[in-house]
Amino acid sequence: MAFPTQAKYVVIGAGIHGLSTAWHLAQRLKAKGKLGANDIVVLDKGGIASGASGIACGVIRNNYFQPAMRALMAECVAEWEADAKGYSYHPVGYMQISPEVMHENVGQIAREQRDIGYTSSFIEGEADCARYMKTIFSDWQAKGITSVLHEKKGGYANNRASIYRLADKADAAGVRILTGVEVTGFKSGSNSGAITAVETDRGLIACDHVVVGVGPWVPQIWKLLDLPNRIDVKGRDGRVHKDVPMWTFWCLEEGTLGVEPNYGLTNDGAMPPVMHVDTDAPLYSDIDGKLITDKIWGIYYKPDFNFNGIQGGASPWKVERPAEQVAVDPYGPASPEFVVDERFAEMWCSALAFCQKRYEGQAGKYRMEPSGGIGAFTPDSFPVFDTFRENCTVIADSNHGYKMIAVGKLVAGELMGEKSALLEPFRHSRFATGKLHPVSNSPFPWS
Ligand SMILES: Cc1cc2nc3c(=O)[nH]c(=O)nc-3n(C[C@H](O)[C@H](O)[C@H](O)COP(=O)(O)OP(=O)(O)OC[C@H]3O[C@@H](n4cnc5c(N)ncnc54)[C@H](O)[C@@H]3O)c2cc1C
Repeated sequence: MAFPTQAKYVVIGAGIHGLSTAWHLAQRLKAKGKLGANDIVVLDKGGIASGASGIACGVIRNNYFQPAMRALMAECVAEWEADAKGYSYHPVGYMQISPEVMHENVGQIAREQRDIGYTSSFIEGEADCARYMKTIFSDWQAKGITSVLHEKKGGYANNRASIYRLADKADAAGVRILTGVEVTGFKSGSNSGAITAVETDRGLIACDHVVVGVGPWVPQIWKLLDLPNRIDVKGRDGRVHKDVPMWTFWCLEEGTLGVEPNYGLTNDGAMPPVMHVDTDAPLYSDIDGKLITDKIWGIYYKPDFNFNGIQGGASPWKVERPAEQVAVDPYGPASPEFVVDERFAEMWCSALAFCQKRYEGQAGKYRMEPSGGIGAFTPDSFPVFDTFRENCTVIADSNHGYKMIAVGKLVAGELMGEKSALLEPFRHSRFATGKLHPVSNSPFPWS
């Protein structure tokens, strides 16, 4: 088929957001009898799932301190449940296990989850938490834990399988997916900023609307759109902070302990919930006993047949360089710079042993291979879903987003003229107006 020279909608990025938007949009237009060939074109400079969506740990949860994130995540979890088998979604639940400094914040999440009908149990007090955890894992031994939020919904999905499922759905609905095509610029009309065409390394595609879902590459497309890479942000303190970088990279550290996934099953032989443990108890090396940290730390883990072991990660680290100086390519495990090292392996394996006796002495089985990757974060570390240049919708999830499978559906609705109350709290204007999302005491920049 010839390379298209025009399309109604050009979607950039074949990750979770680009494909989900394209699929839902195609369904909506088809239902109205308004979908023609080449109307929706998805472009990706790599392949399907070649960005962050294809390496995500795949965790799907709702324990957000921000009411707007919680409401949106409830919608996303429902979307995963709607085609669990197709998306390789495992609804095992999720546990947020926390120290006293997070108790109040997590208690508030639990109360507000109840208010929106999101099923969870909240256990409080050190003794009750230990008892509860031992009913799941008899070898539970983590210290300094005073609350457990057990979300009965959520869990995890197999990253590439779910993205390919979306691609199949989009393709079947009439979306044209073109891989190996890089967007290199935008053309606009003489009297407005609206985009009239997308420039690619294969030629120009005239279009009515552009959707950007490029994950960690968003600073590059932002620049091509002539949007400012420094902005003023009205902070939670009411003060205006001048010249704040629009994008900051963080590096996510994840890895796999090479034991049988069955090694992590519950007392009943079932797949356990995804575990997320934060604590301020000191962490000592399970290899040589030295102190690793006496500051608050956190890890997450799950037995995973897709990764073939116990897979998980720890708190990310901030890349201190300006975003424009960070090499996003080659991405993920192919990056020479942003992959995990022995320090992560020792910390994460020691943390596993801190939580459960079965992991003591297992660090030697850590699979020492490149893993992890970077994500582009906004000034308040929450997503921006908004329209720029009149007809360009940017889905910049601030690295929250593999789980956010419903965002594409809501964006497609907006493209059909339906404003989404769930997306409204994520407009870019919040930085100028100071309507920022609240932050919790978690050591992670995304909770
Ligand atoms: C190690 C790691 C683990 C994670 N774990 C989780 C998790 O457990 N749960 C969770 O919810 N989130 C997780 N995330 C975050 C999540 O993966 C991302 O937020 C989400 O996948 C972003 O999806 P996307 O569709 O915006 O972008 P991506 O999946 O990154 O896709 C963007 C695509 O755009 C293409 N592209 C870029 N520039 C261009 C261009 N100029 N022209 C054409 N194509 C272009 C790329 O090739 C890429 O395929 C994790 C992230 C990382 C790095």
